[in-house]
Amino acid sequence: ESVIVAIDGPSGTGKSSTSKAVAAKLGLSYLDTGAQYRAITWWMITNGVDVADADAVASAAGKPAIVSGTDPSHPTITVDGLDASGPIRTQDVTSKVSAVSAVPEVRERITELQRTIAASAVQGIVVEGRDIGTTVLPDADLKIFLTASPEARAARRSGELKGADVHTTREALIKRDAADSSRKTSPLAKADDAVEVDTTDLTLQQVIECVVTLIEE
Ligand code: C5P
Repeated sequence: ESVIVAIDGPSGTGKSSTSKAVAAKLGLSYLDTGAQYRAITWWMITNGVDVADADAVASAAGKPAIVSGTDPSHPTITVDGLDASGPIRTQDVTSKVSAVSAVPEVRERITELQRTIAASAVQGIVVEGRDIGTTVLPDADLKIFLTASPEARAARRSGELKGADVHTTREALIKRDAADSSRKTSPLAKADDAVEVDTTDLTLQQVIECVVTLIEE
């Protein structure tokens, strides 16, 4: 029987690492919804759309073809047939993704994609993002909300970015989370029925075990 798991939370809480590992361990599909918002942002930038112009972004929202591969050991994302997995991780995309993902037409489009992918996952799926438990999949079997102190989140993210300054990373993270939490349409939020897990003092293995236990309960 198919199980749907929603994992939400701010950046740097270990959502991606946890979601991929849990999905792989339990034989479930995996969807990184942040990658989809990054992909549409990358398309806007490369097609000359001014991301600060919400009307321009809204008009273009339906144009790119975004395809996500849901194998947790090899997640993929293409935009108009091009591999986008590298370009969506650049600083340029990271700094612009909150503005693009605040546009309601973008959210409608991407949310529909996410629901279609979740509905077609035979064994079930782990979906990670910001509004999965509240908006995208409100009937998920299990909802997790991951948190961590700003210091821990910035330290993890700088580690990933290899040598990036912790203070600059911290400021950028806080700014992005504030933008994601304050937008009008489906902000970053914990669903009332989500289980909150503070990962500040936990290792990745401990977080994975905690989520697997919650799924198996
Ligand atoms: O998870 P990641 O940091 O890759 O997400 C990038 C951005 O995509 C977030 O900062 C947010 O603006 C947007 N996002 C969103 N809703 C989601 C997932 C991501 O708005 N469900």
